[in-house]
Amino acid sequence: MKKMINRRWWNIVAVPGLREAHAADGECDHVDTERREIRYDPGLPVWLLVDTIVHEVTHAAFPMASEHDVGRFGTDVARVLKAVLEEQCYEITRR
Ligand SMILES: [Zn+2]
Repeated sequence: MKKMINRRWWNIVAVPGLREAHAADGECDHVDTERREIRYDPGLPVWLLVDTIVHEVTHAAFPMASEHDVGRFGTDVARVLKAVLEEQCYEITRR
């Protein structure tokens, strides 16, 4: 799927087995590359998937941000979303 991130189009691609093959839950091309692709492993548990997508989108939007800050931000957003949605009785399950 194509999504706009910080005024540029990015292709978001599910890559089964990415975690095993690349020892990464997700990957993000550099913003200056022509391909501009974010890849994620669709086999991740849902909140790790949320963490991973926020992480990679943050890399795409803020390429100068440090890996440490991006990592912390993705985990914080996933944790807060999970807490708020659980508090509001939402349940996220795979179809
Ligand atoms: Zn990263």
